[in-house]
Formats: sequence, C-alpha cells, structure tokens
Amino acid sequence: MSRVVASDEAFDTQVPLVIVGAGAAGLCAALAAKEAGADPVVIERDAVPSGSTGLSAGLIPAAGTRFQRAKGIDDTPSLFAGDIQRKAHGENDAAMVELIATNAGPTIEWLADRYGFPFDIIDNFNYPGHSAFRMHGLPTRTGAELIDRLRAAAEASGVTVLTGSRVETLFAGTDGRIRGVELVRGDGGHERIGCDVLVLACNGYGGNLTLVRELIPAMADALYFGHAGNQGEAVLWGRALGAELVHLGAYQGHGSVATPHNILITWAVIMEGGIQVNAQGRRFCDESRGYSEQAAEVLQQPGGIAWNVFDDRIADVARQFEDFRNAEKGGAVLTAASLDDLAGRMHVPAAALTEEWREAERCGTSGATDRFGRSFGAAHDVVPPWHAVKVTGALFHTQGGLAVDASARVKRRDGGVFPNLCAAGGAAAGVSGETASGYLSGNGLLAATVLGRLAGLAAAHHVSAVGSIKSRSDADAAD
Ligand SMILES: Cc1cc2nc3c(=O)[nH]c(=O)nc-3n(C[C@H](O)[C@H](O)[C@H](O)COP(=O)(O)OP(=O)(O)OC[C@H]3O[C@@H](n4cnc5c(N)ncnc54)[C@H](O)[C@@H]3O)c2cc1C
Repeated sequence: MSRVVASDEAFDTQVPLVIVGAGAAGLCAALAAKEAGADPVVIERDAVPSGSTGLSAGLIPAAGTRFQRAKGIDDTPSLFAGDIQRKAHGENDAAMVELIATNAGPTIEWLADRYGFPFDIIDNFNYPGHSAFRMHGLPTRTGAELIDRLRAAAEASGVTVLTGSRVETLFAGTDGRIRGVELVRGDGGHERIGCDVLVLACNGYGGNLTLVRELIPAMADALYFGHAGNQGEAVLWGRALGAELVHLGAYQGHGSVATPHNILITWAVIMEGGIQVNAQGRRFCDESRGYSEQAAEVLQQPGGIAWNVFDDRIADVARQFEDFRNAEKGGAVLTAASLDDLAGRMHVPAAALTEEWREAERCGTSGATDRFGRSFGAAHDVVPPWHAVKVTGALFHTQGGLAVDASARVKRRDGGVFPNLCAAGGAAAGVSGETASGYLSGNGLLAATVLGRLAGLAAAHHVSAVGSIKSRSDADAAD
C-alpha cells in the first residue's frame, strides 16, 4: 500500500535527509549529500541493496571524460546531448538533456577519483545512436559490480542504510512540505521518521503489472526483466501529491533476452553485423535502430521469439560480457560449422536463413543499405563457426516519472516545485522521450547516477539552509 497522508504532526525520530531506495540513484545521492555535510538515512526494502542497478550491465555513457581522452576519443557534452535528443525524436526537455549530458562526465570522474571505480571505455563496438565511444563500464561489465562498489563506498563513508524496510507512506504538511515517511520492516513493525528533505530514488513501475497494463499496455504480457522492487511508488505518491508526471509511457525494452535461459545477450552481436530472424528464418526489420524498440518487434513475431545469428568474430566481441559467457556455459548459444547446420539446430528453414545472411553479407561488403534501410558499417571477414541464440522481448524498466528541475526538485502539476522533495533515477522522468524508441543506450544509469548526485547535493544544501533557520530561531527564542 502506498499512500500520502496530510499531517503536520511532529515525529519521534527526526533526521535531516531521507533517501528512499539504495540503487545507483539513491547511493549516488547519499554519497554526494554526505560529502556536502548532510547525514542521509537511506531506506531500502531489500536485505541487500541491489535494485535494477544490480541486474544491469552497469554501462554509463558520458562525454569528454579523461577515460575517453586517454583513448584519443573526441567527444563533447553537446554532441552527447544531440544524440540523446535525436534518439528521443526531440521529445525531451532540452534544458534537462543539457544538464544531464554536461554533468555525466564529472559524475563518472567523481566516482572514479573519489571512490576508486576502475572505469574504462567500451571501444570495440558502439551502441545504437551514440556518435562516439562513450560507454563507461567496470571490469566485469556488470551492474552487480557497480552496486557492490556503490554499497562499499556508502559503507566506507558512514552512510546509514536501513535495509529490509519498505517505505509505504509519505506525510505532507499543509504548507506543501514533506514532513516524513512511515516504513514497514520485514518483521511487520512500523516506524515513522521525520525529515527536512526527502529524495525518492525507488525507480519506476516496471514490476507493478497494474501500472504497466494502464500505462504501457503493449508490454503487459512481456517478460519483466527488472527488479521486483520497482513497484511504482514514485508515480503513486506523485499522483496523490499533485506532482507533475511526464512521459509515463516511456520505457526501456530489450529485444535480446535468451529464452528460456533468461540471460541478456549483448546488443553487440547485432551492432557488429549479426542479424535477427524469426521462426521462419526471415528478418523482419532494421535491428540496428535500437534494442529498446526491438522488444515489441520480437514479441510480434510467431511465438514471440527471434534468433540472433552471428559469426565467431562477433561472439568474441560479446565474450567481454559475463552474461554472454554465462549464456555460452548455460547452453543458450548454438554453434555450427555451416549455416545449413545452424538452421537445422534452430529448426528454421535453411534456405531462408542462408538467403538472409548472404544479403546482409553483401550489404556489409558493398556498403549498400538493405531492404529495411539498415547499413552494416565497416566490412569484416566472416569467421566461422556460426552461432545462434533464441531470444524474446522484455521490459527492463520504465523511463517516465516525476518531472524535476535542475536541482532534482519535484515539480508541481500546478506550477512551482515541492521545496523539500527531490527525485532521481527511475523515479524521475528520464531523457528517453515518450516511447520505447526514444531510449538511447545507457539513459537508465545516466539519469540514476547524474540526477542522484545532483539530488544529493541539492538536498544537502537544503538541509544546511534548514539548519541555519533552526539555529537562528533557537537563538531568537533564547534572547
Ligand atoms: C537487465 C538490465 C540491464 C540494464 N543495463 C543497463 C545499462 O547497462 N546501462 C544503463 O544505463 N541502464 C541499464 N539498465 C537500466 C538501469 O538498471 C536502471 O535505469 C537503473 O538501475 C535505475 O537505478 P535506480 O537507482 O533508479 O533504481 P534501482 O537500481 O532499481 O534502485 C531502486 C531501489 O529502491 C528500492 N525500493 C523501491 N521501492 C522502495 C520502497 N517503497 N521503500 C524502500 N525501498 C524501495 C528497490 O528495492 C531498489 O533497491 C538495465 C536494466 C536491466 C533490467
């Protein structure tokens, strides 16, 4: 049950700053706030914080970083902002895109320099829509490593994280300020905590089927591949508070989840020249536009599945991802010495598969675009053996949410902002426009880390302003 209760009552326990959710957004907010002198209390429903962050590939795009410069990659925040807007068909708030693109580089360098995150750049393939190599990843290329490092940094910094505690209720005063929260612990006990500032970092509503049915009916029957804790409280509380909610139909889908193994197969297999065919061995669209919109395309194919088909050179690029190595170990990747044999293993017509691959190969060599308008980029020699993975389309996370200003403060539906309520990550509206096709790779963790840090800084600033007001009124009372 998520609700907002109107109340001006005082709380037994009062803290300066509460952050709901200990994913990338919540922990970046907590680290930034702690550095700026505030003492945050992070409330997390799981026993060990993980969230969708822990399920992700942990890749964060940023432009103009020292990691890019070290590899001679020429990139700027404005080029990055242009890519974000192009992918989102210009549907984002331009000022928000600029804010996020400009702060992404400093956020990556902050995590690297202050907390020792060993980022490097993926530079042996590029993701759709990015005009420079700018995906910053950790050595294992996993979100598990990202969340482990964030958790360790929070612990080392002395951030208080109340785990196994789900926030159910927000208390809002008659003056429009948030007064505090009520949480439910694993043992069923309830606790109320008052706060000067509240940051919502509890992600979106991908795990709440009622909201998915209402807001993204096309994905209501799709596999949900995100974290079960993404139950949409930010949307529900936002509605009750009269907050502005934008782009609620936006989401990140993925058209490449191995089935029935449920392992993410990196889109590198497509971007490096692989193709997707359906159960009839036929291609059905330009796969290279993006993996997010591809989820719905795959689900529309017979049986709601497709096959990723690629050669061994491409498999080698994919092997940098632990998920892909696990997929190979788990038997999700079929291998054969010829396309005919591969088609036999896939149970698809060999003639159709061979024809589709040869057409793609011809376009790759000649530089021509294919019948779907896809261009295959640089020509490569095909290196046998061949591989195929049966995949389906999945919902990863939602991208719409609470509209925020440049300090991550939540906007009101009737104008202005809530003075002491911030949102970041999947709880806030992202920069992916209105639909799945607006999602540029990395937009999820981009909004989580960048807005998380900005929310933490803004919250700390607010906490210190409240502290000064309180000490002034205490002094006045003493006079
Ligand atoms: C398989 C997969 C791969 C992905 N790969 C990438 C990638 O490589 N790059 C990228 O940019 N994005 C990726 N994403 C998206 C990315 O994971 C999310 O956008 C990002 O993790 C959101 O961070 P967050 O902190 O907002 O949410 P989360 O990481 O989901 O954290 C929210 C936390 O809030 C907690 N919580 C929720 N409600 C409450 C409550 N009421 N009380 C207390 N706690 C609560 C949850 O338990 C959770 O721990 C991927 C997503 C998936 C599913």
